[in-house]
Amino acid sequence: MLSYDVLIIGGGLAGLRAALEVGQQAKVGVVTKVYPMRSHSVAAQGGINAAISEEDNTEDHIYDTVKGSDYLADQDAVEILCDEAPRAVYEMDQMGALFSRTEAGRIAQRPFGGQDFPRTCYAADKTGHILQHTLYEQALRHNVKVHNEWFVLEILSDGGEVRGIVALDTHTGKVETIAANAVIVCTGGYGRVFSRSTNALINTGEGMSLAYHAGAALKDMEFVQFHPTTLYGSNILISEGARGEGGLLFNSEGERFMEKYAPSKMELAPRDVVSRSMETEIQEGRGIGDGYLHLDLTGIGADLIGDRLPQIAELARTYLGVDPVTEPIPVQPGQHYSMGGIGTDVHGATEVGGLYAAGECACVSVHGANRLGGNSLLDTVVFGRRAGAAAAAYVKGRPRPAPIPDSVVQEHENKLSALLAADSGESFSPVRKEMEVAMMNGAGVYRHKDGLDKAIDQLDVIKKRAENLTVSDKTRKFNFELQGALEFKHSLLLAEVIAEGARSREESRGAHFRNDFPERNDADWLKHTIATKGEDGPVYSTSDVSITKHQPKKRVY
Ligand SMILES: Cc1cc2nc3c(=O)[nH]c(=O)nc-3n(C[C@H](O)[C@H](O)[C@H](O)COP(=O)(O)OP(=O)(O)OC[C@H]3O[C@@H](n4cnc5c(N)ncnc54)[C@H](O)[C@@H]3O)c2cc1C
Repeated sequence: MLSYDVLIIGGGLAGLRAALEVGQQAKVGVVTKVYPMRSHSVAAQGGINAAISEEDNTEDHIYDTVKGSDYLADQDAVEILCDEAPRAVYEMDQMGALFSRTEAGRIAQRPFGGQDFPRTCYAADKTGHILQHTLYEQALRHNVKVHNEWFVLEILSDGGEVRGIVALDTHTGKVETIAANAVIVCTGGYGRVFSRSTNALINTGEGMSLAYHAGAALKDMEFVQFHPTTLYGSNILISEGARGEGGLLFNSEGERFMEKYAPSKMELAPRDVVSRSMETEIQEGRGIGDGYLHLDLTGIGADLIGDRLPQIAELARTYLGVDPVTEPIPVQPGQHYSMGGIGTDVHGATEVGGLYAAGECACVSVHGANRLGGNSLLDTVVFGRRAGAAAAAYVKGRPRPAPIPDSVVQEHENKLSALLAADSGESFSPVRKEMEVAMMNGAGVYRHKDGLDKAIDQLDVIKKRAENLTVSDKTRKFNFELQGALEFKHSLLLAEVIAEGARSREESRGAHFRNDFPERNDADWLKHTIATKGEDGPVYSTSDVSITKHQPKKRVY
């Protein structure tokens, strides 16, 4: 039977950074449902934040992040994120990441939303691609064992400690187990819970649900980031870097409408502010066509676009037939990032012994109610490394992981066989679409009790229908319809926790905006939402926010 000291689920930036750290000290393996280079990290465009310029300083990075989070981030964790940022970026540089350069040869930095300094280091508009290549190269060089296209079905835990995982090997269609003393969950975001998302189709979020079922808590799940500029229709991301390089937003009347909402930061206000402003413009009838706005890059010039924004120019040309050098790009807000996730401490540890999480699936919490652009890539490498170090320390001196009984495999085989054998019931795909639309309508950019009640009622019905799914492809190898049905059941749990969290939080903070409670309410709600597994579903509680230097004040841009 396969066994590792530390097993990592996910081959994106967080998973690979953790694997490199563990590999120096203990036996490590990675399981990933797609080849590492297909992880969503590859799609990251705009850049990674670090106060590396002589005119910048870490204290400002901390302050911008805390203010951006609408004071919900744990400030001790933010201090670590920003303190370790320069080291993390230089480390990537030294590993071979090809960052764009200034004329003087320094790593180039661009302005990003909600920050007072051009702090975002970038590799043109392909930063994630470059970083992921670099870490994957290093993983290969250090012989990190990767189980490609293994879909994790369960994280095994008992007595409050992790035992390993169960996975479906997509190549053979067989259920496999891997024993491990520690497991680090690095499974990324759940964007596909919403109908309009910038996320890859694989971002269905089951890692968060697997950790929840193993006994970990989900934290602040109601905080969902909507990115202002996604391509109209397909919702492919147009990086904030486009506005950082001088892109402007216009409504149907040709107004640069951000003047009304964030006069000092304009297009470079934080994402929650810009997305809400755009939704308001559209809802009040100043949208273009049937509901988009214009992102105008024509003032930037062909040379700069070719040099710094080549990928987004290509995306606009390919998917909308629009040439951003000469025409404005139709854009609309779309789901982009999950601020919430598996609750961890600053070492990536959950309440379950040996269970760690890092990257987008985790909530440390450094992003609070709204993440600043460029801070997520940073989060993956800083907390990926820390989780790896903590897991390696945890397994040190422990006996080899105990073998996993065959009955575990049998139990999963039975479940899969039953799902494959069912010939009545619905296909998952249209039912999932209903979940995505219910979430977009009820728990989108603007929220209200009535809309959330409706979404939760719809989810209840969808949950019942999801108990009765059928899969038309009855084969075992590479059965992505089967995998889709399994992913969907996990996505539904996340949808429920997001919507319930949003309904109970009767205030507006960061990305969570309630039309019926438009103000932030620190007296009652300066706290994290916690969801843990109870007998009849999620049980909700709250926990305190760590405040060190920055007392909450009104957030104005
Ligand atoms: C289009 C786009 C652009 C972005 N641009 C930026 C940017 O410029 N700057 C920035 O800071 N942030 C950006 N972000 C956010 C950032 O890229 C992500 O938050 C980050 O890369 C997530 O990395 P990760 O390692 O946590 O997860 P991912 O890279 O998503 O990797 C998840 C891994 O988990 C594996 N996995 C998931 N479920 C299972 C399962 N059941 N079994 C086995 N394996 C599983 C997958 O195979 C994958 O390898 C962007 C996001 C998007 C969508």
